[in-house]
Amino acid sequence: MFTQIQLKYAFNALEPALDALTVETHYTKHHATYTKNFNDAVEKAGLTGKTAEEILTSLDEITDPDLRTALQNNGGGYYNHNLYFSTLTPEKTTPSGALKAQIDQTFGSLDALKEQLLPLAVGQFGSGWAWLSANQEGELQISKSPNQDNPLTEKTGFTPILALDVWEHAYYLKYKNLRADYLENLWGLLDWAAISENYARVTGA
Ligand code: MN
Repeated sequence: MFTQIQLKYAFNALEPALDALTVETHYTKHHATYTKNFNDAVEKAGLTGKTAEEILTSLDEITDPDLRTALQNNGGGYYNHNLYFSTLTPEKTTPSGALKAQIDQTFGSLDALKEQLLPLAVGQFGSGWAWLSANQEGELQISKSPNQDNPLTEKTGFTPILALDVWEHAYYLKYKNLRADYLENLWGLLDWAAISENYARVTGA
């Protein structure tokens, strides 16, 4: 049984960058629905006991196309939002340790990473996500995905460690069509301690 991560903050704790109604609706409605529908599809597919990562990286083994689509969309929705909500914080944080060193080596600096990643997120046509991902060798990669796809469903060999949700439900109440403004403010909420933990887990460090 897959469950939503517990939020480490109150619904209003991310204001003014993210308003309380958006966070509450996003978590208690959108994310909750993906999670319920994912659990239903997992049971129907006989995949109980598998991890979400295992399911999302082996979707092509599901022969029923409707069931495969349900697992892809709702499994992605479950997994992507757990990552999104777990890497936000009202606290000021910065990357440290191995992740900071790898960001500097790959992108030049944290600011340079931001300058490359946010335009990818702004440019995702329609609903989707932008990612910072890592592989077991410790390499970093930025990418974007449509719908609820992610680097796991796309079989990139990379695991996302930071998720930027650019579905309109993530920002429309406050920002309307201004996705770039949402992303600029979302950047200031990133929990680099949590992202560093994700990096350590993926790389086995
Ligand atoms: Mn969302």
